[in-house]
Amino acid sequence: MLKPHDMVAVALSGGKDSITLLRILWKLERRFPPARLVALTVDEGISGYRAEAISISREVCEELEIEHVVVSFEELFGVTMDSVASRPNDLQPCSYCGVLRRKALNDCARRLGATKLATAHNLDDEAQTALLNMMHGDIERILQTPQGSTKIPASFIPRIKPLAEVPERETTLYAYASGVRFQTTPCPHGHDALRGDIRVMLNRLELKHTGLKYTVARSVERISTAVARPGERRAFRTCKSCGDPTPNDVCEGCLMLRTLKTAGDITFKESPLTGQSR
Ligand code: SF4
Ligand code: ZN
Repeated sequence: MLKPHDMVAVALSGGKDSITLLRILWKLERRFPPARLVALTVDEGISGYRAEAISISREVCEELEIEHVVVSFEELFGVTMDSVASRPNDLQPCSYCGVLRRKALNDCARRLGATKLATAHNLDDEAQTALLNMMHGDIERILQTPQGSTKIPASFIPRIKPLAEVPERETTLYAYASGVRFQTTPCPHGHDALRGDIRVMLNRLELKHTGLKYTVARSVERISTAVARPGERRAFRTCKSCGDPTPNDVCEGCLMLRTLKTAGDITFKESPLTGQSR
């Protein structure tokens, strides 16, 4: 996943997983002087929730002497999650939030010259996402692995998920054992209801069938490989609107922003990160 000269941007939400990831990468980085770490926190604009996470993130970065960059949906896209969640939408708030956060992280990592973007998804997240995509019949997402694409656009910052095979119970234990402060307040916009149900189901099944979460998470990789051999995968292009990698002409983030714009929620503006109009 990592090379000695990598400049790694770490997505830092202030929760137990991202703080655990940052601490582990920080320990590794000290053994490789040419490597660099920078922490990225995205402020989605969620009152009563994100401010605490930003302050915890700032605290941990100061302690570890890691550069900390905060970017907000408002500054990047002219929208806040509070405003999106307060209007009737076709999708749940988490769907907008997830796509726009990925877009913000990619933009910011690219601007900072990062060679890798590390996220703290753990085994539970991966298994839940695998089942969610299957339940939604979302073939695009199942096959959407830019690393496996024959043509990778320069705008793509390779993502790494160092905790993807680590169960959530273990990241939680690590966070408590290392005595770090992390955010425990839940988001007021709630979580994806179906994901919550899948989470409960997987936890129950894992108790009876050890290793099941790992098998489920790996199944997506196997399906993706079986459906499209590496040389035959869809080539990724660059989004006509923002330059992000996408299998289509326009990326999912830009399509969402267009929907919000049509609904009158936002005004597109010049992005401070890419200098492109949105
Ligand atoms: Fe965003 Fe949903 Fe997470 Fe809240 S719970 S921060 S809306 S993804
Ligand atoms: Zn785009």
